[in-house]
Amino acid sequence: MTETPENIRGPVFRPAAEGYDDERTGFQRLATHRPDLIVGATGVDDVRAAVRHAAALGARVAVQAAGHGVNEPMDGGVLISTRRMTDVRADPAARTAWVEAGAPWAKVIEATAPHGLAPMSGSSPGVGAVPYTLGGGLGLMARKYGFAADHVRRLTMVTADGRVVEVTPDGEPDLFWALRGGAGGLGVVTGMEIGLLPVTQLYGGGLFFDVAEVPGVLEAWRHWTETVPEEMTSAVAMLPFPDLPMVPEALRGKYAAQVQIAFLGTEEEGRRLVEPLRDVGPRLRDTLREIRYTESAAVFDEPDQPHAFQSQNRLLRDLDPGLLATLPKTGGPSAPIMCVVQMRHLGGALARPPRVPSAVGHRAAAYSLNALSMVGPGQEEIARRLHHDVLAPFEDQALGRGINFGFGRLTEQEARTAFDPGDYDRLAELKARHDPNGMFHANYPISLDKRDQ
Ligand SMILES: Cc1cc2nc3c(=O)[nH]c(=O)nc-3n(C[C@H](O)[C@H](O)[C@H](O)COP(=O)(O)OP(=O)(O)OC[C@H]3O[C@@H](n4cnc5c(N)ncnc54)[C@H](O)[C@@H]3O)c2cc1C
Repeated sequence: MTETPENIRGPVFRPAAEGYDDERTGFQRLATHRPDLIVGATGVDDVRAAVRHAAALGARVAVQAAGHGVNEPMDGGVLISTRRMTDVRADPAARTAWVEAGAPWAKVIEATAPHGLAPMSGSSPGVGAVPYTLGGGLGLMARKYGFAADHVRRLTMVTADGRVVEVTPDGEPDLFWALRGGAGGLGVVTGMEIGLLPVTQLYGGGLFFDVAEVPGVLEAWRHWTETVPEEMTSAVAMLPFPDLPMVPEALRGKYAAQVQIAFLGTEEEGRRLVEPLRDVGPRLRDTLREIRYTESAAVFDEPDQPHAFQSQNRLLRDLDPGLLATLPKTGGPSAPIMCVVQMRHLGGALARPPRVPSAVGHRAAAYSLNALSMVGPGQEEIARRLHHDVLAPFEDQALGRGINFGFGRLTEQEARTAFDPGDYDRLAELKARHDPNGMFHANYPISLDKRDQ
């Protein structure tokens, strides 16, 4: 691809040029696009010019914001990098914000917090708000307010034929359905308007237990989730902490269960609700406190440095207490590679139908179960088998998988299970209608065109 695209304000990069590798490399180091051309888009006009340029050449197009979610790397073609498109405009009177395609949640939180408002963000503020929401978006206030996708008012998208389309529930009902939960692949979303919540603080953080010392912690958490109100969103992650100086002393070398709490209410009420969990046994660490929403990264306290990781997940109709004891055995310290096993408590508003239907799948799930590993070179097959073994006992209770939490390549059959019956086919039909030549490189096999599979 030698032609130079016209009318582009942002930088363009070709292989071997300075900046090319930095621009194509995102947070996820397992999969990196290798395009013939990268357009560092500065706005909707650049996106449109890049799409038209690719269409004229018959080239494929991939999109990348922060690059946490790249599952399917693209070879050749045009990569539209949205990392310069980070404008966020809050409208406090309407309780909405306009969010450009590349803005990370941190920027949205920063722009909305001064108005006493918060977005439906998730565990990591570095994740791109638009890609997260295109995949549904399961956040810190999920049980009270549902998926991030439920709070989208409108989007703008550049289509395969280079038009800018305003996607609203009335004007483009099919696209409005598909973009909320379908995880992209139909065009390039350049921005979205979202509703905001009147939230400024949480009672949140983590309770860390030594699994060897308090083996009943998973069962206690599971039982506790049946008793809490929708204001309480929680998860538990089991992970081996390395014996390294950067790890808090109390956790070094320990296999710990980290109960992650985000409660929408007062500290007093939060303390009262969490008391049964604190009573389960001695805690290695307890970081629960009243936090500003701007500190929300403290709830999950996840690594924020780019690395290679792979995962599989299941959305479960229920969590059989009798099976919980299998998790530290299959995914614990004796696993062939390090494994983080995480369960999130779902239900509440997540289980209610949204005001406007969306492609988000399996809303009836009561829990999610996720097995994730950092992977080094040559460890992908080991991780795949390990995650299969961790999840296998739970298959009878599985409704399917969550599209945002599957890191690594999906087969068509696996991708299908991320959606409710019939919805995968509806997405594939919309893909065929809006992208008949299969120009947009989807993150999972969706096109009726076999080139995407
Ligand atoms: C540490 C970490 C924490 C996470 N926490 C949560 C969480 O709490 N809740 C949750 O729901 N998810 C969570 N996720 C998943 C995350 O929401 C998705 O992986 C999301 O896609 C990542 O955003 P990004 O900006 O890094 O996306 P990218 O990797 O840049 O993009 C992901 C994919 O989205 C598509 N895409 C991106 N931009 C556009 C666009 N403008 N138009 C059309 N398609 C586009 C492309 O197919 C692209 O490959 C987490 C992921 C990580 C790694």
